[in-house]
Amino acid sequence: MSTPHVARLTEIVGAANCLTGEPELTTYTTDYRKLYMGRAIAVVRPAHTSQVSEVMRYCDEHRIAVVPQGGNTSLQGGAVPTDAMPGQDCIVVSLTRLNKVISVDPVNDAMVVQAGVTLAAAREAAEAAGRLFPLRIGSEGSCQIGGNLSTNAGGTAVLRYGNMRELVLGLEVVLPNGDVWNGLRALRKDNTGYDLKQFFIGAEGTLGIITAAVLKLFPKPRSTSVALIGTASPESAVELLAFLKTRLGHNITAFELISAPAMKLVREYLRDNEPLFEAEQDWMVLIEAISHADQADAVELFHAALTDAYDSGLVKDALLGTSEAHARRFWQLREEISDAQTRTGGSVRCDISVPLADIPQFIHEATARVLALDPAIRMVVYGHMGDGNVHFNPLRPGTMTARAFSDAYGSRIAEQVDNVAMSVNGSISAEHGVGVAKRDELLNVKCEVELQTCWHIKRALDPKNLLNPGKVLPDFAAVFGSTK
Ligand SMILES: Cc1cc2nc3c(=O)[nH]c(=O)nc-3n(C[C@H](O)[C@H](O)[C@H](O)COP(=O)(O)OP(=O)(O)OC[C@H]3O[C@@H](n4cnc5c(N)ncnc54)[C@H](O)[C@@H]3O)c2cc1C
Repeated sequence: MSTPHVARLTEIVGAANCLTGEPELTTYTTDYRKLYMGRAIAVVRPAHTSQVSEVMRYCDEHRIAVVPQGGNTSLQGGAVPTDAMPGQDCIVVSLTRLNKVISVDPVNDAMVVQAGVTLAAAREAAEAAGRLFPLRIGSEGSCQIGGNLSTNAGGTAVLRYGNMRELVLGLEVVLPNGDVWNGLRALRKDNTGYDLKQFFIGAEGTLGIITAAVLKLFPKPRSTSVALIGTASPESAVELLAFLKTRLGHNITAFELISAPAMKLVREYLRDNEPLFEAEQDWMVLIEAISHADQADAVELFHAALTDAYDSGLVKDALLGTSEAHARRFWQLREEISDAQTRTGGSVRCDISVPLADIPQFIHEATARVLALDPAIRMVVYGHMGDGNVHFNPLRPGTMTARAFSDAYGSRIAEQVDNVAMSVNGSISAEHGVGVAKRDELLNVKCEVELQTCWHIKRALDPKNLLNPGKVLPDFAAVFGSTK
């Protein structure tokens, strides 16, 4: 039954870019963490917006489900098909070939890129024009601007520059019926009604396929200072951030908390045997500050602020990134924690956010609840503390297999941690989105009015429920209490 569809899709994108064989299909239908695996009749790789539009129009006519895919690095199962629509044909539309940087404008501080440009390539293009595109996440070599927009990605510079939603001026989007909306405006002020682009940002491919974007650029800092700090507790880390804000203001770009088990895990993974701190530190913070002043002046200010923090007891020990190699090592230790966990297997990943002042209470309460299940669980806790965002990812005891850990504790840990986050008015997904992993939990954390309004928007744009069905929104019947 699907053969005529494949034939027509092949006509649109060419045989080399309509994949139906193995092992290619499995690569695109399995998510990054290999937790979700679906089925598709083809993977289609258009080269232009017009091809995306033709593919979408054909799928709309024939009621074929479409899963947009960027770099497939997202962590909630949103980028691969699921069996949400049993019996319905489904294709993956990979944006990989829409990979051109169209223009970089250092006067207007904006650049236009296609959706399939990787984050690393976008950052390089900005750098080549003497500007900064500040989004920075560990997957930058593979993830794509379209995926970053669709997940409203965050990362390690949100404290200073905001998340993806704040870094975009305009979008081009192919709608579920194949129409193309060209909203590639590069304006910083445009109060002409609804801000349509915001619907598609963070929508995880459920409302439209983003094909291009106008991104904001920033002046490149003249100096960057990095330090890895040992601090007594989450409380002192929060105090330290407040102290540094009064001293360095908006110049702090990153403030990343790392627990001792997280550091141990990543050092083992990287085989990093170089000495770190003289004494074991229970909690560490990676701090980065930028400046547009002269390098020597900026470093002096940074060091003076840390010295004063040390004198007031907020810092137990400090390793200063005095060379590029030092700074790179500190960043590598932070950025590889996620992959160290993936490689080790058997962690429950909870990406929560809470108001900054409530971070200590959240960590203590959630830790107590997890350790009450099994005191041998390793408390891998890290993340973008400056944004109130903690990756609270308990790891299996060394004696337990990943499967046994997941079966015994997986859902209980996630539920407990989310409950603690909600008890302090937090969010159960700070930056990783909803996908399928968190979809049904929205029923517990969002009110009926909000969920019903989201479904009204979905139905207005995608009445046949073809774009990424089964993602983000809990089942229609569960939200409305009926199937109509
Ligand atoms: C090592 C590692 C570190 C990470 N660190 C961070 C971090 O610090 N902060 C953070 O926020 N995330 C992080 N992530 C998660 C992930 O990299 C981000 O969510 C990223 O933005 C996903 O981009 P992608 O291109 O891989 O999207 P994909 O995984 O391909 O897709 C993500 C979602 O967007 C949709 N989508 C993709 N492209 C489009 C498009 N063009 N139009 C419409 N919908 C589309 C998909 O259908 C899916 O729902 C990390 C992941 C890894 C593996």
